[in-house]
Amino acid sequence: MNQLKRLKIIIQGAVQGVGFRPFIYRLATELNLTGWVNNSASGVFIEVEGNERILEQFLARIPQEKPTLSSINALETTWLDPVHYSNFEIRHSSSGEKTAIVLPDLSTCSDCLQEIFDPNNRRYLYPFTNCTNCGPRYTIIEELPYDRSHTTMKHFIMCKCCQTEYENPLDRRFHAQPNACPVCGPKLQLWNQKGEILAHENDALTLTIDALKEGKILALKGLGGFQLIVDSRNTNAIKQLRQRKHRPHKPFAVMYASLEAIKIDCQVNDLEESLLTSPQAPIVLLKRQNNQSLSPNIAPDNPYLGVMLPSTPLHHLLLHKINFPIVATSGNIASEPLCIDEQEALYRLENIADLFLVHNRPIIRPVDDSVVRVMAEREMIIRRARGYAPFPVQINNNINSNSVPNILAVGGHLKNTVAILKNNQVFISQHIGDLSTVEALKSFHQIMDSLKDLYNFEPEKIVCDAHPDYVSSQYAKSQNLPLITVQHHHAHVLSCLANNNLNPPVLGVAWDGTGYGKDQTIWGGEFLLVTGNKYERIAHFRPFKLPGGEQAVKDPRRIALSLLSEVFQEDYHKKLPFLETISAKELNLVKQMLSRKLNTPLTSSVGRLFDGVAAMIGICQNVTFEGHGAMALEYAINNLETDESYPYNIKDSVYPLVIDWELMIHSVIEDTFNQISHQKIAAKFHNTLVEIIINIAQKSQKKNIVLTGGCFQNKYLTEKTILRLKQEKFTPFWHHNVPPNDGGIALGQILAGILKIK
Ligand code: ZN
Ligand code: ZN
Ligand code: FE
Repeated sequence: MNQLKRLKIIIQGAVQGVGFRPFIYRLATELNLTGWVNNSASGVFIEVEGNERILEQFLARIPQEKPTLSSINALETTWLDPVHYSNFEIRHSSSGEKTAIVLPDLSTCSDCLQEIFDPNNRRYLYPFTNCTNCGPRYTIIEELPYDRSHTTMKHFIMCKCCQTEYENPLDRRFHAQPNACPVCGPKLQLWNQKGEILAHENDALTLTIDALKEGKILALKGLGGFQLIVDSRNTNAIKQLRQRKHRPHKPFAVMYASLEAIKIDCQVNDLEESLLTSPQAPIVLLKRQNNQSLSPNIAPDNPYLGVMLPSTPLHHLLLHKINFPIVATSGNIASEPLCIDEQEALYRLENIADLFLVHNRPIIRPVDDSVVRVMAEREMIIRRARGYAPFPVQINNNINSNSVPNILAVGGHLKNTVAILKNNQVFISQHIGDLSTVEALKSFHQIMDSLKDLYNFEPEKIVCDAHPDYVSSQYAKSQNLPLITVQHHHAHVLSCLANNNLNPPVLGVAWDGTGYGKDQTIWGGEFLLVTGNKYERIAHFRPFKLPGGEQAVKDPRRIALSLLSEVFQEDYHKKLPFLETISAKELNLVKQMLSRKLNTPLTSSVGRLFDGVAAMIGICQNVTFEGHGAMALEYAINNLETDESYPYNIKDSVYPLVIDWELMIHSVIEDTFNQISHQKIAAKFHNTLVEIIINIAQKSQKKNIVLTGGCFQNKYLTEKTILRLKQEKFTPFWHHNVPPNDGGIALGQILAGILKIK
């Protein structure tokens, strides 16, 4: 029967800012259907009228032909009587419950790129070009629904040409909210340190390039905040940047003009290539090749390099005009949050940057560049920010959190992120950073509030780390809401479960630098059996002393001394080369602390064990960033292939089992005396850790083994563990789109909240 019918459709998912409405418009008009489509805060609403058979076709073609960047979570239909619409139109947005998905910012698409390099195009060399397939989203949106009036583009009135594009459903810029051109859009300026304007638009770009060539440090207002950029070949300039930024060793990321240029300096496999060129355009950690023109000061003693491609037209224009890659690092001092406002940048970055390349499109929230590493032939996000946040993580359907209240998780302390649970989806904030400074704490509050506002989210329950002194925990406690505290490593394991849509029971291997334990010690080398909403600590590393607490974290030679004091009688280790770098006074002090147990908190942390061994063999003397020692040991292996490992003991007369590293440390020292290479010692150390995992996995009799915590950012450790677990018929799980480090804690806390309530 060819009956006239009316069909009402509600589509939820990533359907705004991706050209969804014009797609519906084109499809409906092609099929001669009438009705309308609009955006609401909860998704896309459609009403179409026509022959029932054609309407069925229309419905079937939506998921098949939807725009590439969109994704559909739910599609609801209702059949109604016709009301005789005369045409098909795109209607204004309506409000309603805010559940639509805010898209992350997307790198410049190939169509836009072509336009900015086409002298005949009206957007020739225009640094703020974008369309429905690319450009800013999350960094400019104030509230849902995603309309121009709700973005920082509301200050720019479109010119006639732009308005025409914006209103034409057949144009690539139909309802592209940040649509702009040189006539009506944002503009560039170059400022000196006093904020005086030195140049405008193209001249500003030209002067910037000159300054870079002269070795100047530029603060560039990018997409999600300020970046500091400098010539990647200029060792002096980079040295200066390190000094001014208080960042003595941590590697810098480098931006290249093209994939071809990257391939000259680094090895790039297919997956790495697709990550580099994806709309997310993250920093990808790549293996370096030998013949490099880059300054050695960019990533000292590091066989890897953090590399990215330009992700905005401004970056494309800049890189196009210079013939060298640039260092591009976040615009802040040490671990403070990113600067997003040019006036703020002037005073916060005045001692770092020589010049400021700014523009007048306001940034709503800071979003750093993301960092990704390929691990066991899959991507692993190390820092989840631009391009990924705030895209939600779906919670495992078996858990069904529909009946669960709104949960807010406040994360950990280092690499903090926060997360909210709404309608079965977890929205994880972008990387916020270490909450150790006043600025960072301010940013924590701002980012959390803006995430809550964006989704009109009122928390009913709140989850935090069990550490009573974390500022995030203190915030949670001050909220007068039902509170759930979760042990740090339990949250790590749950985070990996959520990331893999996996259900308990599992054996969680949670290894990191630090986390509050339930027995007055600092945990970090944990084997947790997770069942239901509970965990059981079935094994851990033998605790050792951290002389001076935080001091030992910064100076891992203290950890080395602590380990040695447990293994050897007094002074046996006198001839170890690393001891020569410690003053007699310092040595005495640490020995006193150790023997009298003064300010020597105990830890079972594998991260600290890495630090201690790295210091002991003399490849890392002071740690200036989290994971420094572990990185030094991982990189020391440098392609060596060996399955040799060190002996160790497991004390099974006690429960939980204690993994005793004493024999291993003993052998490391022996190898050092016997002048065995660092390469070999590092490999044997890693292999020992892998064999310990296999051993405990066998004892646990669990099939699913979950690898989580900051230690599993280590490619050698993770890949070798995965390989060995598979050989022994276990099923390993690791992190993919949520970081294994503390950036993933908030997701784990959300899952803990769900399981607890169930
Ligand atoms: Zn585009
Ligand atoms: Zn315009
Ligand atoms: Fe951790």
